[in-house]
Amino acid sequence: MWKDLAELIDEAAELLTHANKVVIFTGAGVSTESGIPDFRGRDGIWTKYDPDDFTYQKFISDPEARKRIWRGLTAFGEAGQVEPNPCHYALADLDQLGKLDCVITQNVDGLHQKAGLHEEKVIELHGTTRYVKCLSCGKRYPREEIAERVKQGVEDPVCDDCGGMLKSAAIFFGESMPMREVAEAQRRSEACDLMVVLGSSLVVYPAAYMPAYAVHSGARLVIVNLEPTPMDEYAAVCINEKVGEVLPRVVEVMRRKTA
Ligand code: NAD
Repeated sequence: MWKDLAELIDEAAELLTHANKVVIFTGAGVSTESGIPDFRGRDGIWTKYDPDDFTYQKFISDPEARKRIWRGLTAFGEAGQVEPNPCHYALADLDQLGKLDCVITQNVDGLHQKAGLHEEKVIELHGTTRYVKCLSCGKRYPREEIAERVKQGVEDPVCDDCGGMLKSAAIFFGESMPMREVAEAQRRSEACDLMVVLGSSLVVYPAAYMPAYAVHSGARLVIVNLEPTPMDEYAAVCINEKVGEVLPRVVEVMRRKTA
């Protein structure tokens, strides 16, 4: 049966209102309205760049690729006094309503925290561009500190303490996933009674297993994504609209229902 947007928003708000443990799963689509392109959407990064340039193996073995990546990451940071958008703020509101167990994110931009969510509420499955780490001794640096060195002309920065190779703390292709975060995300996904997927194509694994873990453990599923996903058939509510337009309306309806 065809339903209009207002009905779908109402159904999502109803599910959220009655859920006890809500886990939100976010992808790159949550940040496109902040001006950060996604990978696989209509104007995604892979329509312009070669994913092979962003592999861990290339980064550690090819100094020229490393220099290109450092220049790119530095430019990304500069372009980006990037700000959270209405979807990020609506998730912080959801937390204020006492509804949020956690956000599991594939994003590396730190915008959930910038919108006001506590660090402990956000599980970053693919690391973060907010930090740079030494691949030898593990020392962490704020991204801005290393970006400043690159701007000053250091093409391939190294660790102050041990001279080791530095790399963004975002997970590159071919790099292992952070074990603690993946295990915690799986545990939270299996324990929730509602999972809401926002702005993810659900084709990047193992991250995309999280909604499957939730559904297999009996949770309801809501998906808000511009394009269809492989998990749509398992969703109680599926909305193909912008997250920045849908989420604030969902929270508004929830507020009315509980007022
Ligand atoms: P993806 O690029 O594979 O898919 C994003 C999905 O979001 C697409 O299906 C697209 O149609 C949808 N979308 C785009 N804008 C939307 C909007 N405003 N509202 C609703 N839907 C919207 O992204 P993914 O599934 O997150 O996986 C890609 C990988 O890219 C992840 O590993 C992530 O780490 C990384 N990534 C992160 C960022 C970031 O941190 N902001 C940006 C690009 C890529």
